Amino acid sequence: MLIGNRLQLQLKEKRYISPRSLELTYSSMEPLRYIPGQFFSLNFTTEKGEFTRSYSIANCDFDIQTNRSLTFVITLVEHGKASDYFKNAMIGSEISASGPFGNLILPRQDPQRYILIATGAGITPYRSMLNELKKRLALNEQLEIKLIHGVRDPDELLYRDEFRALHAEQPNFEYTACYSRASDDLKAFERAGYVTSEFERLKPVEGEDMVYLCGHPLMIDQSVEYFEALNFSVANLKREKYLFSAI
Ligand SMILES: Cc1cc2nc3c(=O)[nH]c(=O)nc-3n(C[C@H](O)[C@H](O)[C@H](O)COP(=O)(O)OP(=O)(O)OC[C@H]3O[C@@H](n4cnc5c(N)ncnc54)[C@H](O)[C@@H]3O)c2cc1C
Repeated sequence: MLIGNRLQLQLKEKRYISPRSLELTYSSMEPLRYIPGQFFSLNFTTEKGEFTRSYSIANCDFDIQTNRSLTFVITLVEHGKASDYFKNAMIGSEISASGPFGNLILPRQDPQRYILIATGAGITPYRSMLNELKKRLALNEQLEIKLIHGVRDPDELLYRDEFRALHAEQPNFEYTACYSRASDDLKAFERAGYVTSEFERLKPVEGEDMVYLCGHPLMIDQSVEYFEALNFSVANLKREKYLFSAI
């Protein structure tokens, strides 16, 4: 069981950012400190009992020391306990949370290149890192960042406009979308297939690249196998697996 700071949160905003994904913003009375890339565990009660589910922080704050809000995105699954709870949660409702947790965070010292890979809502940790990534790109002309997001179809590309804007303004930032269920009329940044089919193109090099993986357990397992075969280790292959809960 995860043990961290316990916080009481109140729902302030709620909106669909894709047909299956809800963005929720909760506020806290206490400062809600975190490192971009981490997650919180949220405890909620339904008529079936008390449950805990984890969600990555999607906040993209300038001052993470004074921040008092937690934004996260849930991709709804049919008959899911958290999915049903958050779909019906009213503005003003309260839940408790603990955290932050997780090690999917940027190191002090940049590698030559970051390869950031996500499926679905697994893009949110990188959204949380966006201001820091912009800062690092501005300070270090050699730094390159490749961001690859795998989703079913274009409707599911969460925070697409923010990533596309950085791609347009920063030549060292590349944003690629991979669609498992769409292959028509693809734009230059779009591909048909899974994120794993992009790895060969990137030619990852152990010792030069740092690889981040976040999202579906199967994608993480397949990717870890690929990168470990190239001698990547825990130091340069970070991962956050969105494991489904057993209860
Ligand atoms: C560290 C961590 C961070 C996470 N961050 C996020 C996040 O930012 N956003 C997010 O949406 N989720 C995230 N998850 C997953 C999240 O915690 C829940 O598992 C997810 O929201 C489903 O919960 P639920 O209660 O609605 O479904 P449950 O009641 O747990 O499951 C209902 C049914 O749906 C199936 N199911 C559950 N999840 C999926 C899925 N992803 N795909 C297909 N079938 C599924 C289950 O096997 C079960 O049959 C994270 C998980 C971990 C461990």
